[in-house]
Amino acid sequence: MKTIGVLTSGGDAPGMNAALRAVVRTGIYNNVRILGIKQGYNGLINGNIEEMNLSSVADIIHRGGTILRTARCEEFATESGIKKAKNVIEIFDIDGLVVLGGDGSFRGAKLLSDNGVPTVGVPCTIDNDMGYTDYTVGFFTAVETVVDAISKIRDTSSSHGRANIVEVMGRRCGDIALYAGFAGGAESIIVPEEGIDIDEVCRKLIQSRNRGKLHSIIALAEGVGNAYEFAKEIEEKTGTETRVTILGHIQRGGVPTAFDRIIASKMGYRAVELLLEGKSGKAIGVKENSIVDMDFEEALSINNEFDSEMYDIAKILSI
Ligand code: ADP
Repeated sequence: MKTIGVLTSGGDAPGMNAALRAVVRTGIYNNVRILGIKQGYNGLINGNIEEMNLSSVADIIHRGGTILRTARCEEFATESGIKKAKNVIEIFDIDGLVVLGGDGSFRGAKLLSDNGVPTVGVPCTIDNDMGYTDYTVGFFTAVETVVDAISKIRDTSSSHGRANIVEVMGRRCGDIALYAGFAGGAESIIVPEEGIDIDEVCRKLIQSRNRGKLHSIIALAEGVGNAYEFAKEIEEKTGTETRVTILGHIQRGGVPTAFDRIIASKMGYRAVELLLEGKSGKAIGVKENSIVDMDFEEALSINNEFDSEMYDIAKILSI
């Protein structure tokens, strides 16, 4: 293996740069040429490619976003798209590919691997919605961002005696709401996996108000429903003024936490190692504090398991 290409694809996640740095440095350490492919699969189709050296990834371990930029590319998933990608791979003498991205990007990576291009994937998404791995790169940074926001919202909610719904990302996966709500001491956590029981939220709010609590934080995953409608209903049922804060894209940026940098670096390193060992079609992950890998097909078939024990504990701790 003389040349490895690397790209970042789909939704960006803090820690992608740390993974990229690890791929580049591990490759160069092993005398492999590393090509950076810009804007995800778009760059692979259009040949938007640049050779990387040790300095290309200097001073990026602590930066959010991705210096390779990212994109969504519908054409890639078509027959002509894959053909174009294969042509570019041949023209640039790319022997193997590392894909940094979420489950959509991994489906693309599997397609390449099925078409004879040695490809491995490093899971990077703030949602933590990939069932085969305990954690994805970017998740804990997003959780920190939300916890920080909850602390600030708690201050103002207490001052005014208000409730506040904090809507976080996670359409099908409530992990950000669960972890951030848990760590931020939210009174209620509402996730798509468990649904919403408005009367229970209201009961908790009234009970805590009765014992003198000044604020009430409701961590809501975006996939559950309309935050403003929930707020209106809560306000009507409890008489407590209820505001909504939608955190949106601030969750996707920022300085990656140490944990995200560590798992990103370890998985980026392992990605190059696997390619050098002649492996292909592998998703890398973290399981019980170890770096593991498995076939894309198996990895993509594992449903994300919601931590209902943690959810139940959160309910008890927020009585
Ligand atoms: P993420 O990787 O964050 O889940 P997306 O789901 O948007 O992001 O996927 C990123 C890109 O991966 C898509 O724009 C497309 O190029 C590619 N991709 C997604 N799904 C598939 C698929 N089923 N087959 C091939 N490529 C795919």
